[in-house]
Amino acid sequence: MIDCYDPATGEPLGQVRVTPPNAVAGAVARGREAAERWAKSTFGDRRALLQRMLEFTLQDADALCDDIVRDSGKTRENAMYGEIWPVCAKLDWTIAHGARHLRPEPVSSGLLVHKRARIEFAPLGVVGVITPWNYPFQNIMGPTIHALMAGNAVVIKVSEWVAWSSARFTRVFDAALDAVGYPRDLVQIIQGYGPTGQALVESGVDKVVFTGSMENGRRVLQASVKNLTPVILELGGKDPLIVCDDAALEQAVNAALNGVFINCGQNCLAAERILVHRGIYAAFEQQIVGRVGTFRQGPPRGPEIVDVGAIVSPLQLDRIDALVQEAVKEGARVLLGAKRTSSEQGQYYAPTVLAGVRPHMRIMHEEVFGPVMLLCRVEDDAEAIRVANSTPYALGSTVMSRSPARARAIHEQLVTGSSVVNDFGLAYIAQDLPFGGVRGSGFGRLNGRDGLRAMTNPKAVLEDRLPFHRPLRLYPTHAGDYARGREMIRALYGRGGTRRRAVWELLRKSGVG
Ligand code: NAD
Repeated sequence: MIDCYDPATGEPLGQVRVTPPNAVAGAVARGREAAERWAKSTFGDRRALLQRMLEFTLQDADALCDDIVRDSGKTRENAMYGEIWPVCAKLDWTIAHGARHLRPEPVSSGLLVHKRARIEFAPLGVVGVITPWNYPFQNIMGPTIHALMAGNAVVIKVSEWVAWSSARFTRVFDAALDAVGYPRDLVQIIQGYGPTGQALVESGVDKVVFTGSMENGRRVLQASVKNLTPVILELGGKDPLIVCDDAALEQAVNAALNGVFINCGQNCLAAERILVHRGIYAAFEQQIVGRVGTFRQGPPRGPEIVDVGAIVSPLQLDRIDALVQEAVKEGARVLLGAKRTSSEQGQYYAPTVLAGVRPHMRIMHEEVFGPVMLLCRVEDDAEAIRVANSTPYALGSTVMSRSPARARAIHEQLVTGSSVVNDFGLAYIAQDLPFGGVRGSGFGRLNGRDGLRAMTNPKAVLEDRLPFHRPLRLYPTHAGDYARGREMIRALYGRGGTRRRAVWELLRKSGVG
């Protein structure tokens, strides 16, 4: 059993039964059975399912947000903007454009003019999805929407820290599946800790989408070796937000506040390092301190409106505080916060601003995942780029500058999965863009055409264009075959004299020359 509680108040929410690791194979087998019919469904059927999921999400938005807030301690606003909005955006995009990206795609058959070539995007079978706690609904729905549209069944292992709210998500899936007449086993949610997740990776599923920490990403990759299961790893980040000296100050302050404090900093795309040019630093710091100083923190379910919610687990609180205190010991200056503000009931960390943070500090390399702004002053664009590229992570990035050319010159040199200019995080809402990281932030892409096709087996198909059929004759081998092959290759791919000589040689050999 998992004991669930509201991190903002300590209120017990109930117990959730763990799916033992040895029961995972059964869930996958049921998913595989359900997938057989679903794989043959039309795009119309799949759109109808997603349309129902969209309707139920819109209809139940308030109730969904309530449960998400109680389970995670995040603010109601974050639940609405950070969970319901991206889920609806993805459902809407997939309903409108999914079929177009999944229809067989004719491609050139090159030299083989007598053949027709195309790519068919076949379903994989069963996709295993393993999710973290920071966006309980969105982390589940993101991979699941595309896996379903591509004709797969899904088995989802949700985070043990937000196990309680998933009962409501199951209701969304079940109601939508009932409405379109497909079995509920097409989307199953299982519960548990690391071993249940590992059992899912080793269960023989056809692909795993793992979203979580770098440390567990490594474990998943190791477990995937057993069945050579392909994996997408969506891991952590340490994103830079670069404020150039020509940035619009207020815009830059807003972007930095969004980047750091959205979801209490528990955001894979959080702006974990604010790199500010010397020329604008003093004004920027002053405005940040003024704004963060007004932030309200407390239980997000009223009666007061709060800007910053709770921290999901005591472990996470310890981690944030350890990194902050170490940075302070090494010379970072506390402008605000830098302390736990937990009461007996709730787990909180004060909105924090640290100045004088230097690139060598541990806090500049490891994910904080909390409401902590790190201000690091840089001399010029070159230093900003050097510092930005200096961590093991590379997920997202932000550049604030009034000059489009300067912003482009900077982001072209950043090692990152995405770059947003003069705004924070919005690339995630532009559904045609792929989402994912490089380096220690993982590999593979969700979202957009690439994310959708990642849930398929792109089959190469070559068919007859003309009614007659004449396969290449290679056997029995004749004495001149080797030399004819060489001249043919030279004739096809050589240039100038090489090609002319090869053509002549082929003609001569065939008796024409
Ligand atoms: P976590 O790695 O602790 O847990 C993630 C999930 O993996 C949980 O469901 C957990 O039970 C499961 N798990 C643990 N051990 C496992 C194992 N050996 N095999 C299989 N599954 C296992 O991560 P978390 O603390 O829940 O989430 C925070 C992390 O997730 C942060 O690093 C954050 O940046 C990252 N994250 C990344 C993205 C992204 O899209 N790149 C999105 C959200 C969160």
